[in-house]
Amino acid sequence: MKVYSDIDGLGFSTMRKLMLNEATEHGLPVLEQGENRLRIKSDYGAFGIIDRSANGFRIEIEADGAGNLHVLRDSLVAHIADFQPDVAAQIAWSDAVQDGLRPPNFQFAKVKAATRLSASFQRLTLVLSKPDSFGDRAIHFRFVLPRPDNPAPEWPTLAANGSTRWPEGDKALHRPVYTVRAQRRAEIDVDVFLHDGGQASEWAVGVASGTSVALIGPGGGGVLDAARVVLAGDETAYPAISRIIESLPGQTRGKVILLSHAKQQDYPVPHHVGLTPAWVGPDDFVRAVSSAASDCMGGYVWAAADAGQINALRNCDEIAHHPKAQRYVATYWRQT
Ligand SMILES: Cc1cc2nc3c(=O)[nH]c(=O)nc-3n(C[C@H](O)[C@H](O)[C@H](O)COP(=O)(O)OP(=O)(O)OC[C@H]3O[C@@H](n4cnc5c(N)ncnc54)[C@H](O)[C@@H]3O)c2cc1C
Repeated sequence: MKVYSDIDGLGFSTMRKLMLNEATEHGLPVLEQGENRLRIKSDYGAFGIIDRSANGFRIEIEADGAGNLHVLRDSLVAHIADFQPDVAAQIAWSDAVQDGLRPPNFQFAKVKAATRLSASFQRLTLVLSKPDSFGDRAIHFRFVLPRPDNPAPEWPTLAANGSTRWPEGDKALHRPVYTVRAQRRAEIDVDVFLHDGGQASEWAVGVASGTSVALIGPGGGGVLDAARVVLAGDETAYPAISRIIESLPGQTRGKVILLSHAKQQDYPVPHHVGLTPAWVGPDDFVRAVSSAASDCMGGYVWAAADAGQINALRNCDEIAHHPKAQRYVATYWRQT
């Protein structure tokens, strides 16, 4: 699927610079770079611009499926609106987005079961109404939760420029990211870590089967296929690590480092013949991961935890020097 928007004016080189900065900042590969055109790859597809000289320039987006196209368009428009609001105001896509429709990656799911998996995890089994785009390549999504005191929620709609219009103020929707721990066609398992003061975590404990829940996705990273790996993370990353472990070939070798804030280590992390698991506390996480990464040259380093641990990891030479294409080092939550 390909869409474009023609923009009047002489903004080609400014927009080219903006897109190149975006590519550098997020480590996105540049597919094509000439004086008159630029094309960049992202997890969701490709985007770029073409110089039309006196006629201005053209912004192009290409993606597999309406969901990916929407995510790419939504983030590109938001980025342009931040840096060049005059250009954002001119955007009119070739496929004429229908103002007011729901975003294509938005759906309602039914809670089939909510069960206590362990002392600190609640497992939700959901039945998706639109399961097709869910799979191994994109294993995360966002719950879309109204405030508990809002009995008449408003849901997001598309704006004419293709971005998502989210309700604000009292109607604002909480959108925490979660991982699809397992998928069986339209049915998914989601393991929610229970922590104090969490809206999603409290909702997950109290939700009854049969309840409808809104979500948006999928997105984010997928599973891995690597001969050597380091998989590391805290409780919020256990579901993703577990799903990745199950998808790795039998000959993969490496380490799994599980940061545990609690005394009990009772999350069922699957066994893999080539992976050695180690449970560590918060004070030992960064040292353990950086040391494992230095033994994993040529392999893939995957790490996710809270912002403090992740910032410290990113500052370690062993992580900073590991090739960008061979690492995923992500903040999964932050202390507020
Ligand atoms: C790609 C990705 C995948 C994720 N997958 C999962 C998953 O599968 N399972 C899962 O449980 N989480 C997962 N998370 C983390 C989850 O999105 C956050 O923990 C989120 O803040 C939980 O939302 P909440 O509504 O419960 O808490 P919020 O309402 O967002 O936060 C309320 C308070 O809780 C604190 N808080 C948030 N998370 C934690 C925590 N883990 N421990 C202690 N305090 C916390 C916040 O600092 C804040 O003060 C994932 C995050 C990302 C980015």
